[in-house]
Amino acid sequence: MTVKNTLIQALTSAPMNRLMGGLRNQCLPIFMLHRMQDKPLGVYGHQPDTLRAALSYVRQNNFKPISIRTLVDHLSQGTPLPEKAVAFTMDDGFYDQAEIAVPIFQEFQVPVTIFIATGLPDNEWWSWDYKLEYLIMSRMQSAQQVHIGDQTWHLDNADRDTRRRCMRSMRNYIKGQDGTGYDAFVEDISHQLGCDLPPLPPPAYRAISWSQARALESQGVEFGPHSHRHNILQAQSLADAEREIRHSWSRLKAELKHPLPVFCYPTGRSGVDFGPREMAIAQHIGLKAAMSADAGYIDLGADAHNNLFALRRFAFPDKLSDFRQYCSWLEWFKERRYAF
Ligand SMILES: [Zn+2]
Repeated sequence: MTVKNTLIQALTSAPMNRLMGGLRNQCLPIFMLHRMQDKPLGVYGHQPDTLRAALSYVRQNNFKPISIRTLVDHLSQGTPLPEKAVAFTMDDGFYDQAEIAVPIFQEFQVPVTIFIATGLPDNEWWSWDYKLEYLIMSRMQSAQQVHIGDQTWHLDNADRDTRRRCMRSMRNYIKGQDGTGYDAFVEDISHQLGCDLPPLPPPAYRAISWSQARALESQGVEFGPHSHRHNILQAQSLADAEREIRHSWSRLKAELKHPLPVFCYPTGRSGVDFGPREMAIAQHIGLKAAMSADAGYIDLGADAHNNLFALRRFAFPDKLSDFRQYCSWLEWFKERRYAF
């Protein structure tokens, strides 16, 4: 264990948490998960054991997991919240979230909200960023090159981290281009690599089905809209951005009994992937709040000032020490730039 981890363990221990409890009750962390690791299908993501350890920490240290619905009711109507509250969300709506993560949340009786890109269970598409991941992580040979615009990428070896770095670099380049052309870039890359993209997702990218979502809803899992095609909304025309938000909410209302009226912006960086226009659309169509992917706490103090349509979340960390830190008062303390 490193010196830093030892220090965090001491500072986030039960006696220190009791001592600093007053501070911690002025903030609440929402955790954002994506995919779960599923080695047989080559899906890399959160390790089930890490999630289990984190939820065990939550229970053993008397944190109070609440749903996003409870949180939004509190923020908009002032309904009470328990002390030491935490919340969990998962984005996109892939099978592993329903089949691997949800049973772990249920094991610890921790509520979870899944934000679904509704085109996935509708089997209409799979998004350009996951197609890119599939092409680079599973199909690109080490000796191949890819040209996009004025840039060239090549893999020096088949090492997984190298591939992932290469894929992220391409994705960032494409994100910086005109938002209407993402799929064309990915089509072009598939031609350069000489492999056809399947029109529907291969097994590793299978979506939660609507019947699965209905069964989980009846067990208390909540579902919210995450756009239909998972495009970066701020790069779309006004009409397309509005259609994405409206349509995903309509599809959830058509398929489920009590969908959560809280939107989650695809890729979620405030001012980059969404902005005031998207926040206004979500509010205009009757949604109650929206989630960003920017890191930070929800403010609960007397002078709390949250933007209800850009609620911040922490990416669920790989290391338990980081999770403990976010759960406790430590990050909040650092965020406020107290002497530390
Ligand atoms: Zn997403």
